[in-house]
Amino acid sequence: MARNVLYDNHGRIVTYLRLAVTDRCNLRCFYCMPEEGMNWLPRKDLMTDEEMLRLCSLLIKIGIDKIRITGGEPFIRKDLMSFLHALSKQNGLNQLTITTNGVLTAPHIPELKKIGVQSVNLSLDTLDRDRFFSITRRDELPKVLHTFEELLKHDMEVKLNAVVMEGKNTQDILPLVALTKEVPVSVRFIEEMPFNGQGHTYSGIKWNHQHILQTIKESYPAIEKLPDPAYSTSYNYHIPGHRGTVGIIAAYSRSFCGTCNRIRITPQGELKTCLYDIGGLQIKDLMRQGADDAALESAFKEALGKKAKDGWEAERAKPQRSSARESMATIGG
Ligand code: SAM
Ligand code: SF4
Repeated sequence: MARNVLYDNHGRIVTYLRLAVTDRCNLRCFYCMPEEGMNWLPRKDLMTDEEMLRLCSLLIKIGIDKIRITGGEPFIRKDLMSFLHALSKQNGLNQLTITTNGVLTAPHIPELKKIGVQSVNLSLDTLDRDRFFSITRRDELPKVLHTFEELLKHDMEVKLNAVVMEGKNTQDILPLVALTKEVPVSVRFIEEMPFNGQGHTYSGIKWNHQHILQTIKESYPAIEKLPDPAYSTSYNYHIPGHRGTVGIIAAYSRSFCGTCNRIRITPQGELKTCLYDIGGLQIKDLMRQGADDAALESAFKEALGKKAKDGWEAERAKPQRSSARESMATIGG
């Protein structure tokens, strides 16, 4: 059966949903949220499993075929596995993936594999226990490394995500790259974005994608550019003789917006057509007010008809100070 195709107002095909199932987290990464004082959403403000399934099913019907589960930390949500079971059975869903900090993930890996989660993004900014503590404010590196080992043992596709931050973990760039020699893993370095829940903003970053690449090239001059897959947000590279690959995600420089194929649903059930926009369409409320599928579909299409051309345009359109306390955990990373 021919698939429906969902377009935005710039003619880009939208196929990818990032669904944040909670805003809560068991780490406190300083680039994502403050150490204290996060106002977690009351449970009633999170979507129920049924609401998330209804939404996903509708979006799959109108053109989404890949869903990434994120948060907050997805495994904090008690019913996550039963939700994933139900979601994995949706006809038309070609890829179900998850982004996790790895603290609670290891025991679920066999089941994740069984239900068809093919790929896991594991956030790991450093291999050093003290630096891990200074970044995440929790002493959980051993559990994260255990999850990494288990993922590899179960032949899961693993992408390690490391946010690169001046004064915090730039000394980890090369050890993380070195992992790709023996391990078939994709190590991806992410530019830091201004979503730390503390109103910290900046007008530029020192560790942008060019600087990260230059640092890697100084130790690995033979590094080769790989063709980037369609819709890729990372520039991808390979070091001759290594089993894994290296990626650099220009999340702050926003060089990939031209091929953006994604939307986000925040933990509070709001649609974001761009990571940098202010959101606006409260889908959970629409559902709770009794909207039928046709009304939800037309609300989605209307919102997609207003998607910003790129993250810079989305940011400019925000009212002043609206991003003052945005956190990646409440946006849905
Ligand atoms: N808790 C899960 C985790 O950490 O993998 C999933 C949610 S987290 C918000 C998703 C991703 O966003 C992580 O890879 C994290 O490193 C990244 N992230 C969070 N805050 C960021 C920021 N300010 N700049 C760049 N990436 C960020
Ligand atoms: Fe939690 Fe992920 Fe944010 Fe770190 S990046 S505080 S693990 S949600």
